[in-house]
Parts: sequence; C-alpha cells; structure tokens
Amino acid sequence: MALEFFQFEYNDDNYGVLVHDPVSGCTAAIDAGDTAAYLKASERTGWTIDNIWITHHHWDHTEGLGKLKAMTQSKVFGPAGVEGVDEALNGGDSFDFCGLTVDVIHTPGHTLDMLNFHIAEQNVIFTGDTLFSLGCGRLFEGSAEQMWASLSKLAALKPKTVIYSSHEYTLANAKFAISVDPENTALKRRVDDVEQKRSRQQPTVPSLLSDELATNPFLRAGDPAIRAHLGLEAASDAEVFAELRSRKDNF
Ligand code: ZN
Ligand code: FE
Repeated sequence: MALEFFQFEYNDDNYGVLVHDPVSGCTAAIDAGDTAAYLKASERTGWTIDNIWITHHHWDHTEGLGKLKAMTQSKVFGPAGVEGVDEALNGGDSFDFCGLTVDVIHTPGHTLDMLNFHIAEQNVIFTGDTLFSLGCGRLFEGSAEQMWASLSKLAALKPKTVIYSSHEYTLANAKFAISVDPENTALKRRVDDVEQKRSRQQPTVPSLLSDELATNPFLRAGDPAIRAHLGLEAASDAEVFAELRSRKDNF
C-alpha cells in the first residue's frame, strides 16, 4: 500500500509534511517548526501524529517540537543534539515506521547534524535543507566539499525518487540556475513551469530526482556546459560546486 502525504506551509516559506500509512494508521510529521500548523494539518487529514522526524537543529524546523511532542505523545527521531529527540540517529541507521524501513542519510553542509529520511520501498526522501527544488541549502556549518559529498549521496538514489524539501525557494533558485546553465532546454522548460506554478501560488515541492539531475546546477558540477560557463573545465566537481554555491550566495 502506498503512503499518503500531506504538505502544508508555515512561516514565510517553510513546508511541513505529514506521512501517513493507511494500513497501520501510523503518521509521521517531518520536522516540527510550528505547533499550530502541524496540529491543523493533523485535523485536516484526520491523521493522528505518532512519530516526529527532525532533519536538523535550526529553529524553523524545531521551534514547535516540545509542544507538538507533548500534545501528540509522539516518539521523536533525529539528531542527538536536538532537545526532545528520543531516538538519536546517525547516518547509516535505519528504523521501523510501522512495518516500513526508514534509512537515515547524513547530509552535512547546511548544518553538521543534517539527517535525511529515505523510504526506499516507497521511493521517497525528505531532504530538509540539503537538496531543494533547483537548489541546495546554504553552507552555514559545513564546507563545500562536505555539501558536495552529501548531495552526491542523494544523486545516487533511484531517479524516480520523490524529493520533499523544506522550503519554497524554487523561483529564486530557477533564476540562478538559468544564469549558469542558459542553454539547458530541460531547465528552460522547468523554469517556465515553476513561473506558472508560482504565479498561481501552487507549490513546486515535491520534485523528482530525475528532474533535479537534469536541471539543478548543484547536482550538475560535472556538466561540461556549466564548467565551460564558469571557466572551470579542469576543476574538481567539488570545486565547481563551491563556485556555484558562492555565486548563488551573491546572486
Ligand atoms: Zn535550516
Ligand atoms: Fe529551514
């Protein structure tokens, strides 16, 4: 049986998700940045939250955790340093979600504690602030080399994997992407699609890994056209990624 997903907005541009298994009735909340928004999503869907999976320590992902945990009596999975986590996880761990296996992928870069939650049998991953639609997280704690290694782990998943990320940043990401990869026809099509969706206030998250691989410059540091555009034909992939990330920071 397929999992069901309910994505909702909170703060200015955050996305929360509820993940529901209709067989067992189990429901996981991805992050807990705003208690009221998560409780409203639970009410809307009729799904009772019993798991909370925290991606990283930033406040916009954890601010509501204490209250949401207390109100739902949920078991909390996440990085060891986040207050309220019951089950401290490391990369390479897996845990059971009512009969489904959740694999934990450590993706340091945006923060050092970043965890992504991959359910391989359902081809879905929750990437927090690591991989965004057409973008990636800023480097607050990790190095460019670390982030490139993290993104490379995600790039190796099945192309049909569905990517749920935590922010609606896609329009700004699209403008940057086309500036460094202007001849990419798949990207041009995607930019049009993103502009249309955002003009109607529709979400551009989730996305498919296959589309990210074809259009997201932060997964395409090996691409000859991007390297030529940057004048970095002889650089390593990590060096190309570092240049892309710093250009985006100043875009
Ligand atoms: Zn963050
Ligand atoms: Fe965030």
